[in-house]
Amino acid sequence: MPQSVIVTGASRGIGRAIAERLAADGYALLLVARNAGPMDQLAADLASQGAKVATFACDVTDDAAGARIRDAALDAFGPPWGLVNNAGMAESAALAKTDDELLRRHFDLNVFAPIRIMRAVVPRMVEHGGGRVVNIGSTASLAGYPYITAYAASKHALLGATRSLARELAGKGVTVNAVCPGYVRTEIFDETLRNIADRTGLDEVQAEEKLKRMTPQHRIFETDEIANAVSFLLGDDARGINGQALSIDGAEIEH
Ligand code: NDP
Repeated sequence: MPQSVIVTGASRGIGRAIAERLAADGYALLLVARNAGPMDQLAADLASQGAKVATFACDVTDDAAGARIRDAALDAFGPPWGLVNNAGMAESAALAKTDDELLRRHFDLNVFAPIRIMRAVVPRMVEHGGGRVVNIGSTASLAGYPYITAYAASKHALLGATRSLARELAGKGVTVNAVCPGYVRTEIFDETLRNIADRTGLDEVQAEEKLKRMTPQHRIFETDEIANAVSFLLGDDARGINGQALSIDGAEIEH
């Protein structure tokens, strides 16, 4: 049986690219998302190329999601080698509109869910001799930006958890790292463009140009760039890398 990896938010965007890359690497995969349809289609596509893939439809913000995902992974492939906490959300709002409900939604999905899944899954990795966790952060894990107080606060919190658990688990064979992208072309990015267009009167093409000009490489990143970094962090060559925030941002953040 090949080593297996759990990928949350695997049905589209960055998570889909991660699933495709890890399947090509030869890992068995448990894909997780709320909607079964697109995820099952992806699983069928990957299986037709020879990958071992199982799916588990659930909302990762449910209290019991961590335990249920762990059990689904154990049933499918035994103790997992890797966990990629990718499912996340980003909604922009000015401070006056950053109400408790918006804050809670960001923290439920971007902080509570990944910590809950790590709490359920990591003990199985430790029992099995080690493993790898990769949490998908953001440049907003490392810096603040206007109109994303809830998102940036939640992604900073996720990076704090990543760094703490890396130290807590360092002697137990488990590494915990974050990959921190700038803007990546996915549905979240399309939503960002619509929000900027609504707020500024720019059209979406102009909004994209404005965002590109704000980045050192003047471009939006592609999902496979993030997937390649995740693949590296799961591999044996990355065994000494722990508690790091690997930025994929063309030098937007210096740290
Ligand atoms: P998308 O919105 O394109 O995809 C999100 C994925 O997560 C989908 O598969 C979705 O499937 C799943 N998902 C969403 N909510 C839940 C939930 N409650 N439970 C289970 N699954 C869920 O997002 P991206 O690919 O753009 O983003 C992925 C990650 O990358 C996020 O953590 C995001 O913060 C981060 N990121 C994204 C950037 C970007 O510019 N796109 C930049 C920096 C970081 P379903 O709807 O079926 O549940």
